[in-house]
Amino acid sequence: MTTYDLPTREFLEVLTSVLGPAEKSTIALHEPNIGDHEHKMVAECLSSGWVSSVGEFITRFENQLSKITGAKHVIAVVNGTCALHLALHSVGINPGDEVIIPSLSFVATANAVAHCGAIPHFADSDLTTLGLDPTALRKHLGSVATRRGDDLINTKTGRRIGAIVPMHTFGHPMQIDELILVAKEFGLPIVEDAAESLGSCVGKKHTGTFGRCGILSFNGNKTITTGGGGAILTDDESLAKKIRHLATTAKLAHDWEFLHDQTAFNYRMPNLNAALGCAQLDRLDEFLRHKRNLANKYDKALQNSGSFEFVGEPKGTTSNYWLNTFRLTNPNLAMRNELLTASRAKGYLCRPAWNLLHQLPMYENSPRAELPVAQILLSSLINVPSSANLGS
Ligand SMILES: *Cc1c(COP(=O)(O)O)cnc(C)c1O
Repeated sequence: MTTYDLPTREFLEVLTSVLGPAEKSTIALHEPNIGDHEHKMVAECLSSGWVSSVGEFITRFENQLSKITGAKHVIAVVNGTCALHLALHSVGINPGDEVIIPSLSFVATANAVAHCGAIPHFADSDLTTLGLDPTALRKHLGSVATRRGDDLINTKTGRRIGAIVPMHTFGHPMQIDELILVAKEFGLPIVEDAAESLGSCVGKKHTGTFGRCGILSFNGNKTITTGGGGAILTDDESLAKKIRHLATTAKLAHDWEFLHDQTAFNYRMPNLNAALGCAQLDRLDEFLRHKRNLANKYDKALQNSGSFEFVGEPKGTTSNYWLNTFRLTNPNLAMRNELLTASRAKGYLCRPAWNLLHQLPMYENSPRAELPVAQILLSSLINVPSSANLGS
């Protein structure tokens, strides 16, 4: 019998009180919720024969997303990583450019930059929102960047800095209004990685609709799923046209001739996946309600805790509570690891925040700001089971 430290005993008690025992079958971190509605709609798609890159579910899915997010244009694609790659490419990120991203993010954010032949330039995070810290970024850019004509140049590397990619961590909106001011000061476009934040808003405005464009992900572990999938959101009509064209092998309209006017991508979402997506979006409000319910239970259970705080939605924002997050009051990597080992052994499949991207082998030589807060967050955050059905 292992004897655990006090925080670990408390952690296990909180999980058991909110989720019930997990001895018989493990409780996943986040699993998809597929019901009759999804079965019917996917079957309808199969019967129609239109399973690939053309079909009515794609348009329907895009229109539903446009209604939910308020984005004028939505382009559904094969996954969130491709969405971000295409978004960055379309706002003019070229090989050899640098793109500002938080070091505390999923690896896809950095990979999408690298797929453009560009280099991620890592920025620090904010202790409260867990997203990119605009104030720290302003200071950092002020010390390393200088204008040359229309371009912002990193004086240390000589490379152009081409964009900022903020990310709404675990569904909690970052300080996007403040970041917009910083982006204006330095003349940089914002491309929002809203992969985790479908249903999350700042005021009444949906995340992913603040920058030149934004992206969503519908991977199996996200708030809704299309199996694999993503979308690009933008209000800019000419940018939307360009993205749609590039996502579809840059094929020109013609009855029978194969005319393509640039090297492009095959990134469009298949109709089969969109059918699943339409059914899931019909149930988005239900998922969000249940997820908020579960978040409230965790929050309540931690009210009098000496060891943990619940990470709630930042002031003035609505979070989708994609992944519920506990914060160790005293950041401690060894303690964090003990919590993970102990809870997983009991069947609660908790997870840490991602290892910091600047420490991964392929990005360790990338330029970066000082990252003290990201380091603190790494040793204090734990994601706990968050599937919508757990809050029903
Ligand atoms: C999920 C995710 C993506 C995209 O993921 P796909 O699996 O390619 O859909 C991008 N960025 C972040 C922060 C994510 O969590």
